[in-house]
Amino acid sequence: MRVLSKLPMVAFAATLFLAFSCQQKAQDTTPQNVVSPEVLAKIKRLGFSTEGVINNNGSYIVERDIMLTEAQLDQGFNNPLLLRAGQEEQYRTTNVVNSNGSRVITVYIDTRFNSTYVNALNDAIGRYNALNLDISFQRVTSSSGADINVRRLNWFLEFFGVLGSAGFPTNGNPYNEILMNGRLQTSYGYNQAGIATVIAHEMGHCIGFRHTDYFDRSISCGGSTNDEGDGGVGAILIPGTPTGASLSAASWMLACSGGGDRQFNADDVTALNWMYKNNF
Ligand SMILES: [Zn+2]
Repeated sequence: MRVLSKLPMVAFAATLFLAFSCQQKAQDTTPQNVVSPEVLAKIKRLGFSTEGVINNNGSYIVERDIMLTEAQLDQGFNNPLLLRAGQEEQYRTTNVVNSNGSRVITVYIDTRFNSTYVNALNDAIGRYNALNLDISFQRVTSSSGADINVRRLNWFLEFFGVLGSAGFPTNGNPYNEILMNGRLQTSYGYNQAGIATVIAHEMGHCIGFRHTDYFDRSISCGGSTNDEGDGGVGAILIPGTPTGASLSAASWMLACSGGGDRQFNADDVTALNWMYKNNF
C-alpha cells in the first residue's frame, strides 16, 4: 500500500534531503532507483505494471506494495491463470492459503515498533477474526516459527513513500513477511486506525487478495488511468461482489491510502467469506 497524497512524501523527502545533504561531500547518499530493462521485461511478462517499480536490493516492489523476488520473476507463480475479470470489485490471486477447515496464522511484530503499531496489529487481527473464517490470526511474542513477521521497511523504501509491503501465498502458506513504514505517525500523521488499515491491507495480500482497483488504480491513487494487469497470479472476480470499484466504497484492498480507517465493507466481507469459509 502506498501513500495517496504526495504532500507528506514531499515533506518527508525534503526532510531526508536536509538530513543527508550535510553528508553529501563525503558520500553521495541520494537514493538511486535503478531497474534494468531485463527486469522490467520479466515484470511485464508476468503481467504486472512496469510503472513505478522500486528496486530493493535485488527484489522488486510492484503495484506499489507487492514484493517480488528475482526467483519469482524468473519462475513465475504456482498455477498462473491468465484471466481477466473486467472492471469488478474484490479480486483474489490463484495463490491462496490452504486452511483445511481451520488454520491459525501466527503473526509477530518486531520490537522496533511502538505500542501504537502493536495495538494496530491487534486491531487488524481482530477485524479478520470477527468474521469467524476458516483462517484466524494470532499475535505471538516470538518471531521463531511465526507464520508472518512484521518488520521495518528500510529507509530507502520509506523514502519512496511505501506505507507497507507484502507478497502473495506460496505452496498453500501465507506470505511470510510484512514490511511496514515506521514513520506513519511522524511523517504521515496516521493514527492507530489508519495503521491498522495498512496492516490489514498487507495481511490481505499475504492471504491472496489483489487490489480492489487493480484494473485502474487511479481510483484510489489518483493520477492517470493505470491497469495493473493480471500479474501472472490471476485476478479472478470473487462471486457475489459487485461491478466497479470506487473510492467511496473504501475497500480495504484499494491500492492507495490517504490514512483513513477502512474497515471491511459489505463486499469485502462477501469476498473474505467466499475465500475462507468452506473453500480452500
Ligand atoms: Zn497493496
